[in-house]
Amino acid sequence: SLTAGIVGLPNVGKSTLFNAITQAGAEAANYPFATIDPNVGIVEVPDNRLNKLTELVKPKKTIPTAFEFTDIAGIVKGASKGEGLGNQFLSHIRQVDAICQVVRCFQDDNITHVSGKIDPIDDIEIINLELILADLETVNKRLQRVEKMARQKDKEAVAEQNILLKLKEGLESDQPARALEFTEDQWKVVKGLHLLTSKPTLYVANVSEEEVADPDANKNVQKVKEYAANENAEVIVVCAKIEEEIAELEQDEKEEFLDDLGISESGLDKLIKASYSLLGLATYFTAGEPEVRAWTFRKGIKAPQAAGIIHTDFEKGFIRAETVSYDDLMEAQGMAKARENGTVRLEGKEYIVQDGDVIHFRFNV
Ligand code: GDP
Repeated sequence: SLTAGIVGLPNVGKSTLFNAITQAGAEAANYPFATIDPNVGIVEVPDNRLNKLTELVKPKKTIPTAFEFTDIAGIVKGASKGEGLGNQFLSHIRQVDAICQVVRCFQDDNITHVSGKIDPIDDIEIINLELILADLETVNKRLQRVEKMARQKDKEAVAEQNILLKLKEGLESDQPARALEFTEDQWKVVKGLHLLTSKPTLYVANVSEEEVADPDANKNVQKVKEYAANENAEVIVVCAKIEEEIAELEQDEKEEFLDDLGISESGLDKLIKASYSLLGLATYFTAGEPEVRAWTFRKGIKAPQAAGIIHTDFEKGFIRAETVSYDDLMEAQGMAKARENGTVRLEGKEYIVQDGDVIHFRFNV
């Protein structure tokens, strides 16, 4: 399954946030195939539609879908030069599918900052520079190989050479690969290079307890937002310390606590949702009496593949997907009425599953 890596300089609140993630943790019994790795935290994906479906169907059991975060420790200046921990850090980043970079925006004189002052843009640039330098090395190595083939007028090689040169130019002027413009075909080539700076990225601005209700009053948050806008990245504001407290609460206590703070949604919930959609993930549902359940799929897949997420036999023996959209089902307040309304479709092998589909798969065993 896909995972988002949490990175950041020391003392920005990474461990605090990761603690919140593991404490909020998904009920392990529901996800027996999940990785058992102390650096991986599995959270349930908050989805109000699942609650509504539960009220409607009144099943014996409700199972949310889950999402993984990976804690990536140990960024150091000079990582790209392959110094000890540095190499390890980069190889861990290579393995994640998206990056959540925690940026310290809170002031606390008791907690030292590695650079001696709170400057979120400086912090972001320290990390991004290491990633950019590592990518430059990848690009330069590849260029050397492709240049030979390009000289022999190999068409594909020439096309790749152009892409690599553009990447080189961008990276050399401190731009991450994800901020550069390429055509769809060119992107396929870029993706094949597995560059660190081509991974979808979001910034997690960590603010103090006092600022969480009105984060835009924090000038550092403003700066991070401006910076992120320039590279089409998103910013999520959290107070890691508060998230750690919230993670210990029961659902109703949690709502009360958030109310008192003057916020409608916990930072962690926002982060989970943002990471999920950053990775191009969406949710479909199965809704029977024994169990109402949410399933994660990658946008763009077809019905048989979506069935395969539940069980490989569902994919092999796929016949049809009886499908109704969440909205249509809610409007009808039940399958029988939805059928009457003509909103229940029998979809075949070519159907591209949509976010919010409620599906009953029919298959041969
Ligand atoms: P890491 O090195 O990035 O993993 O940082 P930690 O999570 O260990 O946090 C460093 C210190 O900052 C700890 O003493 C935390 O309690 C504190 N800290 C983290 N988040 C916040 C926050 O949102 N507000 C305040 N005031 N302190 C925080």
